[in-house]
Amino acid sequence: MSILQISSFAAGQWVTPGAGARTISSAITGEPFATAGNDALDVQAMLDYARNVGGPALREMTFHERAKMLKAIATHLGQNKRALYDLSFETGATQSDHLIDIDGGIGTMFVFASKGRREMPDGHVYLDGDVEQLSRNGTFLGQHICTPLQGVAVHINAFNFPVWGMLEKLAPTLLAGVPAIVKPATNSCYVTELCVRLMIDSGLLPDGTLQLVSGGLGDMLDRLGMQDVVSFTGSAETALKLRSAPVILENSVRFVAEQDSLNASILGPDAVPGTPEFDLFVKEVSREITTKAGQKCTAIRRIFVPETLVSDVTEALSARLAKVTIGDPRKENTRMGALVSNGQKQDVLEKAALLATEAKRVFGDPENFEVVGADKEQGAFLPPMLFHCENPDTAKRVHDTEAFGPVSTIMGYRDIPHAIELVNKGMGSLVASVITYDPEVAREVAIGAGAYHGRLYFNNRDSMKESTGHGSPLPHMVHGGPGRAGGGEEMGGVRGVMHYMQRTAIQGSPEILTAIGQKWVPGAAEVKGSAHPFTRRYGELSIGETLYTEPRVVSLADIEHFAEFTGDTFYAHMDDEAAERNPFFPGRVAHGYLLLSFAAGLFVEPNEGPVLANTGLDNLRFMKPVVAGDSINVRLTVKKKTKRNDEYGEVRWHVTLTNQDSELVAEYELLTMNAY
Ligand code: NAP
Repeated sequence: MSILQISSFAAGQWVTPGAGARTISSAITGEPFATAGNDALDVQAMLDYARNVGGPALREMTFHERAKMLKAIATHLGQNKRALYDLSFETGATQSDHLIDIDGGIGTMFVFASKGRREMPDGHVYLDGDVEQLSRNGTFLGQHICTPLQGVAVHINAFNFPVWGMLEKLAPTLLAGVPAIVKPATNSCYVTELCVRLMIDSGLLPDGTLQLVSGGLGDMLDRLGMQDVVSFTGSAETALKLRSAPVILENSVRFVAEQDSLNASILGPDAVPGTPEFDLFVKEVSREITTKAGQKCTAIRRIFVPETLVSDVTEALSARLAKVTIGDPRKENTRMGALVSNGQKQDVLEKAALLATEAKRVFGDPENFEVVGADKEQGAFLPPMLFHCENPDTAKRVHDTEAFGPVSTIMGYRDIPHAIELVNKGMGSLVASVITYDPEVAREVAIGAGAYHGRLYFNNRDSMKESTGHGSPLPHMVHGGPGRAGGGEEMGGVRGVMHYMQRTAIQGSPEILTAIGQKWVPGAAEVKGSAHPFTRRYGELSIGETLYTEPRVVSLADIEHFAEFTGDTFYAHMDDEAAERNPFFPGRVAHGYLLLSFAAGLFVEPNEGPVLANTGLDNLRFMKPVVAGDSINVRLTVKKKTKRNDEYGEVRWHVTLTNQDSELVAEYELLTMNAY
């Protein structure tokens, strides 16, 4: 079999392995399979190319343009995923492991593409939060904004997810507008390389936005500056070494770390044998031990069950694990493939030996297990191994030793406070799960353990059919954890994009804030349009364009008619004396919804025109009651525009209702879809 030459992609060129290249072996046969790395890689040229070519190209684009690019890339990868599957078997991964790594990575990219379009502007500045009132008269205001860092993101990834590991970092990075240099772990970098080739060959990425280092990084990290970011996934040991490098500290280079984690799962005291929760627990734990042969940062390493249920759970779990077929990951019946390398297998065995000093192995014998369709001695195979620790209070290893393979330890707890104490002994984890049908148990754990875990996953009979699994980090939710888990945070929707942007507090007048944020701020200049704004197309409307309506008097007959017509005969609108007893009303008042309806009647332009639909209202507040005889008039201002496609765009209007004394009666944002 010829050895694959795994290249790097540097400054627009593919660079084949050279001096210092490392050999990569097949997880299944242990035979040399590929080679990667080149000491002559010009890392400074890579950094320059990213900073001077990739960055400016990305920053030219709006968030929406970058989101569309992500969607196109994800679609392209989806169309070519079979090639990734074929190659990825060599890492020891099964087809269902591929669904997590390859499909999961592509899916993550789709989610960021969609969030970018829905939650970020079609512009260059992301507004973080609302305008802050810093002055009495509103002439001096505050607003937080985010703009892309002007450096490069260096992504260093672990071996276990060669595709997802790259894409979950790449998607928010590119969406932010920052170029990336990806350095996968050498053991599985050939899958990442193919994925990068697919993306580069698609022609969808501007030059310089994605580069790849297969093999060692050289001294790239020593050349980073204050506009750069390192996002690292791997062991705590490597993380410590890299994040404490003088250059990283001196230049305050952002360093996101995702590292070891002694994740846990708790079986609720209510979840006794015979309940759906007991079966669910056994299924989830067993899946977490065997998926990716346990090489998952979120895998369950510690299993906490009520003391009285230790033997029931051990028995049920052992029975389930006994059914797991281990072998050639290409074979359809194989449930668990190989670890990534024999080196990794050795590491897991050493860690398991450490666990064995405090816990007894109750299932799985690494000296005696069956492997189907592959050579057990040559490939990096291990059986699932379950340990039982009788003294979790005094034990140490079980709470701090991560055997990064199919290994987990079961422990008994007395009550929920005890379970919380034990689960927190991991000193920071990515995820802890609780399988319970008792909401009070869930609440107690959330309060007692939340601070120690990046994610808490609750599951029971109500949610189990649709639940996504203890071990699946989701692009919508934060992934990362405190303490041992690295203190980093990734994904979590737009939160993940922020890691690649600078948040800046902007202070100034409404006019200045409007210009920066491209969102009209009350107090900024109003623009008078040449015609009624509802007769103007999306592209013709300008931010700040304002319409003032004629006033309309609200009569008692109007209030009564509205009450009878809608059925809303609430006493505040119908009964003067009762309304007066209410602390908010001077007597009978108009319905808020009547005012909204009158407002629409005042500002709409009835003829068919560019306004296609009213899609909703946001932030509606009624400030002052309106009584019979009062009049209202409306001001309608274009606050923000968001293009949706070539046919139409969303217009967000700032609407105020004032009474005859110019007092604010109601305020809201109206959303319409307008023809382009
Ligand atoms: P690792 O040995 O720490 O390696 C991680 C990455 O760092 C690899 O790309 C590695 O490259 C690179 N690296 C090592 N030394 C370096 C150096 N001096 N300069 C620059 N880069 C360097 O970890 P691993 O064995 O690949 O992964 C297993 C660990 O990752 C486990 O502890 C697991 O818990 C953790 N993990 C955490 C998460 C999470 O999200 N929290 C996810 C997955 C895995 P080479 O391969 O070329 O050495």
